[in-house]
Amino acid sequence: MISVMVDMHRKCLQSWLGHTWDALTFVPSKERPDATHPVAALANATLPKFNFATAPMPKFLMRPGPGSDIKRKMTADRFEIDERWRQRVQGKHVLIVDDTWTTGASAQGAAIAVKTAGAATATILCIARWLRWDWDDHRTLIDSLGDGFDVLRCPVHGRPCAAVKQYSVSASQT
Ligand SMILES: [Zn+2]
Repeated sequence: MISVMVDMHRKCLQSWLGHTWDALTFVPSKERPDATHPVAALANATLPKFNFATAPMPKFLMRPGPGSDIKRKMTADRFEIDERWRQRVQGKHVLIVDDTWTTGASAQGAAIAVKTAGAATATILCIARWLRWDWDDHRTLIDSLGDGFDVLRCPVHGRPCAAVKQYSVSASQT
């Protein structure tokens, strides 16, 4: 789903951002700070296969920093980037993939780490969001949701965009 969505709407996302991504990372967890984390596979899925062969996007790892023990609150030192990755971060437009968004503390902490390491921009692509009925702003969002996930709905335009005109959904033949 991630591969298809990002590939379909890549042009929309990148023209909205005004640049193309040229470095990739993911938000690690304290329990699994390395690339064995399942979200690493999701991050890899955002890379189109043709790009893999010709111009692989540089990747780098973040590691949990001193502020990573503070839950659900934004801290500037939640993540750190090792010196050896600096060249892959400095001046780059970094795509950060995360697998959950609750308060935004970890994704925003990741963006701070990336910017502190010298990135030109940081984009957070979150695969899922945790919603709660008892949080007013979440309830408003839940109430506004009609028909679930639709890959044709553009994350930039909020409706099926020009990029997906060539696709259509057909009922499965069973
Ligand atoms: Zn689109």
